[in-house]
Amino acid sequence: ILSVRGISKSFDSLSVLKRVSFDVKQGDVIAILGPSGAGKTTLLRCINHLITPDDGDILFKGSTVKSDRKSIRFFRAKVGFVFQRFNLVSHLRVIDNVALPLVKVLGKKWREAREIALKQLSQVGLEDKAASFPSQLSGGQQQRVGIARAFVMEPDIVLLDEPTSALDPSLVGEVMRVIKRLSSEGRTMVIVTHEIDFARNIATRVLFMKGGSILKDTNPQEFFESASSEIRDFLTDLS
Ligand code: ATP
Repeated sequence: ILSVRGISKSFDSLSVLKRVSFDVKQGDVIAILGPSGAGKTTLLRCINHLITPDDGDILFKGSTVKSDRKSIRFFRAKVGFVFQRFNLVSHLRVIDNVALPLVKVLGKKWREAREIALKQLSQVGLEDKAASFPSQLSGGQQQRVGIARAFVMEPDIVLLDEPTSALDPSLVGEVMRVIKRLSSEGRTMVIVTHEIDFARNIATRVLFMKGGSILKDTNPQEFFESASSEIRDFLTDLS
């Protein structure tokens, strides 16, 4: 459904991604793991053109995603993004935050968009917060709104950039449970995460990145049993 082909990116003289390639198939839940600075977030941002890669292609359903505005807009309607820091619109109520992409991108009327948004909010257990403003919610609740906003468009894939890293440890669980539920419904997701339990229990595949390259692309069981010293060191540092 999505192919990343030889993506490279440098910031000044720092080469952050070095010809990274991988494929995402329908129903995959891919955890991207790796030490800080490995290029994980940059990779995710290159995929949906929040950053323009220096080289390489993204293919969506077999066609190269061009870098003109129209192509990117079309692609982003099909491929959702969940940000580390939620990125909600502070002066809009929760329900309107979720309804906004339906209005802006799909051209729906607010009334219909709000109906759909409310259903999506109930999927993340927040229908009772529909009329609140983001600042009245906990971080975990705000991120669940961020997730609802990504999924409301019924995208083919959702990319999640460290969705729990800005949260208090006590709030990580509620967000992970929502993501787990969505994955059990067969949603396709690519998640950059430091939550090792997520990679172990929810992911169908693990990509291990270091120094701008994918060193391992495998299933979770094989990943955690890996004898590679880089992976062992990474897992030891986390525990
Ligand atoms: P972490 O787990 O700490 O979030 P990461 O694997 O996601 O790390 P990236 O955020 O992709 O790593 O960053 C990779 C490298 O690129 C880092 O050295 C970072 O400082 C650098 N970098 C990222 N964005 C920029 C930018 N806009 N300008 C300059 N350097 C950048």
